[in-house]
Amino acid sequence: MTTTHWQDRSVIVTGGTRGIGRGIAELFARRGTSVLLTGRTQSVATEVARQVVGATGGRVSGMGVDLRDPQAIEDMAAEAEERHGHLDVLCSNAGIFPEKPLGEMTAADVDEVLAVNLRGTILAARACVPAMRRAGRGRIVLTSSITGPTTGYTGWSHYGASKAGQLGFLRGAALEPAPHAITVNAVLPGNVRTEGLAEPGEPYLRRTAASIPLGRLGETADIAHAVPFLASDEAAFITGQTLTVDGGQTLPESLDAFTPAPTS
Ligand code: NAP
Repeated sequence: MTTTHWQDRSVIVTGGTRGIGRGIAELFARRGTSVLLTGRTQSVATEVARQVVGATGGRVSGMGVDLRDPQAIEDMAAEAEERHGHLDVLCSNAGIFPEKPLGEMTAADVDEVLAVNLRGTILAARACVPAMRRAGRGRIVLTSSITGPTTGYTGWSHYGASKAGQLGFLRGAALEPAPHAITVNAVLPGNVRTEGLAEPGEPYLRRTAASIPLGRLGETADIAHAVPFLASDEAAFITGQTLTVDGGQTLPESLDAFTPAPTS
């Protein structure tokens, strides 16, 4: 039995215009939650919100919020509170993962990845906590990754640093608002079939799927379903924690420990 009244909740999903974020937004919308989904561009966010309303019948609107812009992040929190009357949940999900070998990496490459993935996460949480305090409760759910916190990947060292950095932030950030019934947790996806992961190409996706004990890449819904649990009333006593959702990808300690899924 659930005690969470999803229809009375108000959620921001950053990076809600596609991929995992869109999956999270759709899931909350189906439960009747008021959703503000964001991406860099107002017109795209508005159009995706319209599509999500069409697919779910939910209460969803969009907002252009570039997470590199601190003022835009403050405006996002204020807008959610104004549109919905209150703000309970931040899904800090937006992220970028451009491939760049260390030898070719410029300072600008590092700054860009850290600005969106790490600084954007920190500033979004900072902006939303005051509204959550006014609401009398709050849930912050970060989309981190196995890459960085658990594993490494050639070409994605700056990305791994940003995702591990999110967890360093999480542990401190969970402590400060805890007296106000605000929790901060993270989901760590493995490899998920999204538009963002399309760039490395099908051979990469096939090889990656073959390395996952459950025999397939994750789907956006696989990750999205972990989020409402961490955002629920039932998870009120869980804070500063991580939940890996990776089909067992990080389990085998050697190739011998791995039982490949049967191929058809
Ligand atoms: P995606 O399909 O590339 O979508 C990324 C989202 O982030 C889009 O909605 C995009 O919106 C938004 N975004 C990008 N730059 C932004 C910026 N500067 N300001 C605001 N929003 C911005 O990515 P995904 O695969 O769904 O990944 C979502 C999250 O999961 C990321 O944090 C990623 O690191 C994490 N993750 C993904 C995987 C995977 O295998 N896919 C694995 C582990 C972790 P617009 O384009 O509309 O601006």
